[in-house]
Amino acid sequence: MSDAILVLNAGSSSIKFELFKVVGDHAETRLDGQMEGIGASPHLIARDARRQVLADKRWPGPDVADHVAALARIMEGIGPSIEGRNIIAVGHRVVHGGPDLAAPMLVDGPAMEKLRALMPLAPLHQPHNIAGIEAAARRFPGVPQIACFDTAFHRAHAWEADTFALPPEFYDRGIRRYGFHGLSYEYIADLLAEQDPALAAGRVVVAHLGNGSSLCAIHNGRSIDSTMGFTALDGVPMGTRCGQIDPGVLLHLMLAEGMDAADLTGLLYGNAGLKGMSGISQDVRDLESSEEPRAARALSHYVWRVRREIGALAAAMGGIDALVFTAGIGENARDLRARICVGLGFLGIAIDPVLNAANEAEISPPGAATRVLVRATDEEAMIARHALTVLHCTKLT
Ligand code: ADP
Repeated sequence: MSDAILVLNAGSSSIKFELFKVVGDHAETRLDGQMEGIGASPHLIARDARRQVLADKRWPGPDVADHVAALARIMEGIGPSIEGRNIIAVGHRVVHGGPDLAAPMLVDGPAMEKLRALMPLAPLHQPHNIAGIEAAARRFPGVPQIACFDTAFHRAHAWEADTFALPPEFYDRGIRRYGFHGLSYEYIADLLAEQDPALAAGRVVVAHLGNGSSLCAIHNGRSIDSTMGFTALDGVPMGTRCGQIDPGVLLHLMLAEGMDAADLTGLLYGNAGLKGMSGISQDVRDLESSEEPRAARALSHYVWRVRREIGALAAAMGGIDALVFTAGIGENARDLRARICVGLGFLGIAIDPVLNAANEAEISPPGAATRVLVRATDEEAMIARHALTVLHCTKLT
């Protein structure tokens, strides 16, 4: 039997999973996949590390009604591929750790209560993350469940970056700029520390540009500030989320146009950003290939806002030594990367068009004052690593 760690990322109607083999003190990916359409049109797909399909199966909605059923089907689906593996821990992506949970955590009874208490801070995500933990605890009784928080990497922000300009009792009630995508930023910070310790000790802006997009200022491996705030709505526009918006707009929509909280939630989370602006798609590839002027306008606005935030985060650190692009858009959308960097010459940022077109790992000209890098992020690997660390620490105590 060889040891393995299962990583789960449970959303409202999906569970993404990845299985890692434990090799010494490392975790190596073996397979990944997702169950989508839980309760509606369930579809499981799993692939091995060489991207060969291991399972591709659909069920009627009632057959996979909830997360417990979904996890059971996932384990059936990948069962033959994981025979002989002993799952020693399940690592979970949990969106919110609140003001106090700043490190990965073994989830026992009292810890689960702490996670539940944070549900009001992330009502659209936290309940599903918790459902994933509950499902895994039932499926793997006695196996440690380890929660890893998207907010944790940002918990050391200075008060100035952490607060809103509201009376202090709001801060005390947890109304703070938490920041998200922390597992991705931590992965990139660790990667840079491994590959280039001198650079990692400097001032780095990481642009995590995917369906959800945010940017983070990292100095000497620590998060200084991030574009996301109390929720994952703030900052730059995203696939379907609005990004930063004047709060007066929301007051106006409520008072003058009669929109209520449900209407605003639907608009700001699901029908804004690239999808809402273009009316075509949330996917950059669709917008790049569209002839519609509104597709081009949506991308122009995205570029404008990302560029502005790079400047703001460089200011937060008193300068910038490297800009790192990551996630689906950051790793692939060459044209957008080039457009974002136009006008950032005052920060020493420039892109070599040949290196950029070739999607090289370093796309700034050789010897550039500020290096521009492209790195693949891996939040699941970060969770597996955290799970191993928590297991080792638990054994030691
Ligand atoms: P998530 O936030 O869901 O993890 P990803 O990081 O996977 O999202 O990013 C998905 C987005 O990346 C897609 O919606 C698409 O806009 C963009 N993307 C992926 N591949 C490309 C590509 N080759 N060119 C341009 N954009 C791409």
